[in-house]
Amino acid sequence: MDCVFCRIVAGNADASVVYEDDRLLAFCDLNPVNPGHLLIIPKIHRAGLVDLDESDGSQMFVIARRLAAAIRRSGLRCEGVNLFLADGLAAGQEVFHVHLHVFPRYRGDRFRLDTGQRPASRGDLDTIAVRVRAVL
Ligand SMILES: [Zn+2]
Repeated sequence: MDCVFCRIVAGNADASVVYEDDRLLAFCDLNPVNPGHLLIIPKIHRAGLVDLDESDGSQMFVIARRLAAAIRRSGLRCEGVNLFLADGLAAGQEVFHVHLHVFPRYRGDRFRLDTGQRPASRGDLDTIAVRVRAVL
């Protein structure tokens, strides 16, 4: 297995680290949406969300919240923050070591997410809620 994030964790690839504890690592994205774009990863290789320990997933959100606040205080241009996690190829995941993006946003930046959203009926929403609840 050749995983760039595992190489970073092992110290075999460069990264600009902003946070580290015994379970997680956060560093600057090589291809930032905006300056200050960070990634949070578990140190243990986990391909996707379903593979991730709930405690590590919870801690990733705790650290994301802390990093978002730090980005706002850092002097980097930041009028808002997005958290983004792509789970699976169809969702746009490119590195199959689960990672949570934290990046600053500002009016007029170039980030676009074409959601393709459209209104749904209450009946359809209720049917979907039943399907998901049934396997939760
Ligand atoms: Zn990995």
